[in-house]
This record gives sequence, structure tokens and C-alpha cells, in this order.
Amino acid sequence: MGDPEPSQRAVPFFFSRLFYPLVFFGSIAAGLTAVARGWNYGLVSGVLIGGTAVSLIVLEAIYPAKPAWRMTFASFFKRDLKYIVAGISTGALISYLGALAALKVASYRAGFAGDLPLYFSVPLAILVFDFFQYWTHRWMHETNWPLGSLMWRIHAGHHLPDAVYVLMHPAGHPLNDLIVRQGLNIGLIWFIGFNADTVLIFSLITAIGGLFSHFNLDVRAGFLNYFFVSTELHRFHHSADLDESKNFGIITPLWDIIFGTFVYRPGRLPQRIGVTDPVQYPPSNRYWAVFMLPFRRAAQ
Ligand SMILES: [Zn+2]
Ligand SMILES: [Zn+2]
Repeated sequence: MGDPEPSQRAVPFFFSRLFYPLVFFGSIAAGLTAVARGWNYGLVSGVLIGGTAVSLIVLEAIYPAKPAWRMTFASFFKRDLKYIVAGISTGALISYLGALAALKVASYRAGFAGDLPLYFSVPLAILVFDFFQYWTHRWMHETNWPLGSLMWRIHAGHHLPDAVYVLMHPAGHPLNDLIVRQGLNIGLIWFIGFNADTVLIFSLITAIGGLFSHFNLDVRAGFLNYFFVSTELHRFHHSADLDESKNFGIITPLWDIIFGTFVYRPGRLPQRIGVTDPVQYPPSNRYWAVFMLPFRRAAQ
């Protein structure tokens, strides 16, 4: 049970073992070069994140870990596109409001982290962000009080699809993004006073890691799974089996390891992806129904 099904083509060693560390650490190196040389941060992130997304989408189409989880033309046009368009439009609005909030916060921030060297400030940003993210995420999944049911209905959209692939990454409710990503980003990162260099490297790690988290390819990251959340850990978070749908961390599994929710099963895939009881939820391709989930009285 749960063993990988044979792919249509055996994935070459390079793509299963070396590609992830090369792209992940290569992007961090490129980000550090951008800081040292004063390149445009927006352009550098756009090229690295866009280039990674396109390469992963092509690779998982050729070497899917599970062919049944592949993105199809139908799933793209009937489901994923809606989340991407909604994500971009709400993302633009949220970023604008975020920038305004940041300007406000900047005048109050203590700024103690602003002068820290990157090798100290980036790990600190990851640990602080993921600590709050871990507990918010776990609260959404496991706790009924306070507001547990509402929090779950905000988050459930990300778990409704019965597959995991790169373009599943943006699937979910805009409020989920607002709370988990922007709220924590603005509230914590800026308030603590991290500088733009730290935010660039931190954002690259989060974005590239997020793309690999939903990659439908048999990635084997080995010992890196104890330091960063990637394909092998986050895929189990999407399991329909509640005993293994743990791994609440987004960037690092450290808090999962400390608080006992770390699930690492090398060489295995979850049997089924999605929610435990799909009949209680709208299909993931009905965007409006998923959008309205938090505003319904009972979904569980
Ligand atoms: Zn979740
Ligand atoms: Zn996910």
C-alpha cells in the first residue's frame, strides 16, 4: 500500500536526486549575487521563479511520479486557470495593500534585524515565519476552537484537488493566502525589521521551495528533508489519510520534528490525495463554491 506506481518513463538520476538541490541552492546563490551586485530584485525573482515553474511543469509532464496525478488540459482550463487568475488579481491587490501597510509599519518597526548579516537574518526569518505559520496551519487542520471550523473552511480549498502537481501550488482560497502568507509576512517580517536583502533571499527560498513542494516527480532529497520542506514531505501533507497528512511547515520541517508531526517516508507515495470525505465539499473546479465555503454555516 502506498508504494509508487511505475512511471511511464523511469526518471533519470539527475532529475530525481540532483535537480532539486541544484535549482534550490542555485537560486539562493543567484539571489546573493543580486544583493552583492545590486541587480533589480523584482526582475531576478521573476526570472528565477518563472524559469523554475516552467521547467518543473515540463519535467512532471515527462516523468510523473504518479501518472494519475498529472495536470491535463481539462484540469488546467477547468480548474487551475481560475485559481491562477484569481490568485494574480487578489495577489496584486494584497501586494498593494501590503506595500501600504509596510510603509506604515516601517515607521514603527524596532529595526533590530535590519543590520544583521544575511547568514543570520535569513535563517532567523525562516524560523520565526515558519513557527507562526506552523501553528496557524496546524490550527486550520486540527483544532475546532477557537474558530477552528472557519479556519479549516478557509484552508480546505488547497486540499480539495485529488492530485498534486506544480500548478496546484496556488490552488486555494484568497483569504488563506492573506492570512498565512501576507499577514505573517507583513506582521512579522517587516515588524521585526528585516531589510530588503533578507526579504529577497527569504522570498526566493519560499517560492522555489513551494513549487517543488507540489512537484509530481519522484524527487529524492535525502538528508535535505530534515532541513527544508520539499516534494517528499509536502506531498504527504496532501494525503487523504489523516494519520499521515502532517508536515505543517512550509519552509522548514524543524517545528514538525520538534512538535511530533514530521512524516518522512522515502520512496513511498500517499495512496490517495485530497480530503477524507470529498462528498461534503464542492468539487475543486467550482471556484465560486470553494470561495463561498468559509461563509457557509457547516462544512464538516
Ligand atoms: Zn494544509
Ligand atoms: Zn500544498
